[in-house]
Amino acid sequence: MTRGNHLFGPDEPASLAPDPAFREPVGDEVRTTTCYMCACRCGIKVHLRNGRIRYIQGNREHPVNRGVLCAKGSAGIMNHYSPARLRKPLLRTGPRGSGEFREIEWEEALSIATSWLGEIRRTDPRKLAFFTGRDQSQALTGWWASQFGTPNYAAHGGFCSVNMAAAGLYTIGGSFWEFGEPDWEHARYLVLWGVAEDHDSNPIKTGLAKLKERGAHIVSVNPVRTGYSAIADEWLPIRPGTDGLLALALAHELLRTRRVDLDFLARYTNAGWLVIRDPGGAEDGLFARDEAGRPLVRDRRRGRLVAAEDPEAEPSLTGEVELEDGRRAVPAFVLMVERCLDPAYAPEAVADRTGIAAGRIRRIAAELAAAAFDSNIALEVPWTDWRGVRHERSVGRPVAMHAMRGISARSNGFHTCRAIHLL
Ligand code: SF4
Repeated sequence: MTRGNHLFGPDEPASLAPDPAFREPVGDEVRTTTCYMCACRCGIKVHLRNGRIRYIQGNREHPVNRGVLCAKGSAGIMNHYSPARLRKPLLRTGPRGSGEFREIEWEEALSIATSWLGEIRRTDPRKLAFFTGRDQSQALTGWWASQFGTPNYAAHGGFCSVNMAAAGLYTIGGSFWEFGEPDWEHARYLVLWGVAEDHDSNPIKTGLAKLKERGAHIVSVNPVRTGYSAIADEWLPIRPGTDGLLALALAHELLRTRRVDLDFLARYTNAGWLVIRDPGGAEDGLFARDEAGRPLVRDRRRGRLVAAEDPEAEPSLTGEVELEDGRRAVPAFVLMVERCLDPAYAPEAVADRTGIAAGRIRRIAAELAAAAFDSNIALEVPWTDWRGVRHERSVGRPVAMHAMRGISARSNGFHTCRAIHLL
């Protein structure tokens, strides 16, 4: 490959010599679009000549990547011109695994497929397990599968990011992953959990550059020290699949040392909502509610049960209460503390399994707390909380986390993602 207007010429020698024609257009047309070699959707400019792609360039005007283009994005050209690109259906002609195929026409492919599917549908359509890849118009493929009569259909997300999305929504009402990024402008301590460089690539790279320019501290939890782990201030070489234990050990340590923002939890989360404790009862573990169905809290100031949504309520986070019907209930926070302070999650208890020494876990917890509580930030941005109370400014804790495939795409991914969101 040479510079200038000779890019991708088949026989041209590589040259690093300055090329006076470097700024000349490499084609006769530029299409502005987004890359889809990964889910970031970086802005790109595709240069074409005579209708064929010559070159892909990062779009400096695009807010996601500001002109940065990764190697995978550059290779998007191969989506169109790779000799390996499938252009017709392939029919296996040799034994399975032999790699012997021949191209067939769509007519023949559809005829073969309908003969298989027709028999299954006639006998028991549920025997069809239907799996599609990423962005294969899943609304349509799911509809097709349900019309066929099988409940056994899925798409790539179930093996990929759905654990992250579902656990985040379940725990805090939103998820941090590729579409919910760290606050690159304000974070002072970032923990990356199982994040690979090939995903969410350019936004994270440019974000990490901002953090490093500001001297923020970056910790990478990852079994391998490549890419982001290599440029992190600290690499935690965790044993694969044990990230949830580490997250709970950090929560254990923060609770044990009382480095927790109780005021935030009481005001802005459901930590104070009362949970029924009625072992064996039908509602054991459910929120206690008033006659209107509103969750209840115990108001510290008034010393009685009130609706959680009452703007005047000051929810208690401790103690057990007796409900009107005689059943007992505790704030959700109590259950969380009981779980996290279980000796099974003490740093010493998880050190062997995670491969991270107990002292190191304690130090990271102390650093997280120091970054969060000793140097908070205030943004002069008015906002209204879930109870309808207006605030003139937003106080933030400059700790950020980002987690992705290494965490979510595992058999214990959902609960690991929950533990990290809890932390
Ligand atoms: S990070 Fe790379 S592969 Fe992903 S969208 Fe951006 S340029 Fe394309």
